[in-house]
Amino acid sequence: MNTFYQMWGVVTPAEAKAKIDTQRQSVAEILSAQGVSAPRNLEEQALLLVGRDIYEMLIKGYTEKQWGRPCSELPAFIIRRLPVRFSYDNNYFNDAYQGVPIGGYNKLTEALLDGIECRTSEDFFTRREYWESLADKIVFTGKIDEFYNYCYGKLEYRTVSFEEEILDMPNYQGCTQVNYTEAHVPYTRIIEHKHFESFGDEVYANPVTVISREYSTEWKEGSEPFYPVNDARNNALYLQYKELADKEKNVIFGGRLAEYKYYDMAPVIERVLGLFA
Ligand SMILES: Cc1cc2nc3c(=O)[nH]c(=O)nc-3n(C[C@H](O)[C@H](O)[C@H](O)COP(=O)(O)OP(=O)(O)OC[C@H]3O[C@@H](n4cnc5c(N)ncnc54)[C@H](O)[C@@H]3O)c2cc1C
Repeated sequence: MNTFYQMWGVVTPAEAKAKIDTQRQSVAEILSAQGVSAPRNLEEQALLLVGRDIYEMLIKGYTEKQWGRPCSELPAFIIRRLPVRFSYDNNYFNDAYQGVPIGGYNKLTEALLDGIECRTSEDFFTRREYWESLADKIVFTGKIDEFYNYCYGKLEYRTVSFEEEILDMPNYQGCTQVNYTEAHVPYTRIIEHKHFESFGDEVYANPVTVISREYSTEWKEGSEPFYPVNDARNNALYLQYKELADKEKNVIFGGRLAEYKYYDMAPVIERVLGLFA
């Protein structure tokens, strides 16, 4: 509602809904006049769901930066629904409980792994037979196409590069994350790390602040794959690999790379609990 107020000066949910509905209706009429009965791409799908103003201000530029492709060339199915919240709640997620572990995720995982042997900076594929010989059953969290030696071809991924800067000021943006939805700004968002853990006057206890600008780019060999590109071609290819994976007796494929699926933290943890139950 804060955004709708800034865009249109509307104050109540009913006013905001009416504004969106009018815009959706006009898009539907234009498409229908062109003989288009179902959205042919992400742009048309988004316009039908939220109207032109929200699409152009919040979705178009950000999505095109995130995926490196014009919205008119991205498939419609990527956004079957666009959650629109008619409340003055500025949180990103709708969950009742939200936060990050005190001290960060490293502290959480270190405590979970306490007493368990853990070896890092090891690539599964450089000593595959050795790792597979260590246990009767393994959980594989790497790229599923690489697991099968790319036998059906390569899946595509997006990666993120981070540009970090220490700024000579205690408070740069006043919150953890600001998204830049405009196409002309090359990064997608800026994270100001101190706001994860410092609140109120604590923010000013340190006279400097660290920020990271995030740039979304195509994944290339040697960089870290972050996001699956779930378009029709990649999803079909993934299903071929999944067929092989489903036949494995001693390997559990888990997470965003092995299941070729975007996961947030809470859903991926839920998935792990489900798998082990
Ligand atoms: C920039 C960014 C910001 C995010 N922000 C949020 C957020 O604000 N909120 C939220 O809920 N989620 C966020 N996420 C998503 C969150 O990071 C994921 O949900 C979570 O990490 C997925 O866990 P996973 O186990 O599937 O994959 P990962 O955490 O990536 O674990 C896979 C592990 O497998 C290892 N691995 C892969 N290949 C090999 C190999 N060949 N050999 C050995 N090891 C290998 C990797 O090193 C990694 O440790 C963000 C993700 C990114 C990239």
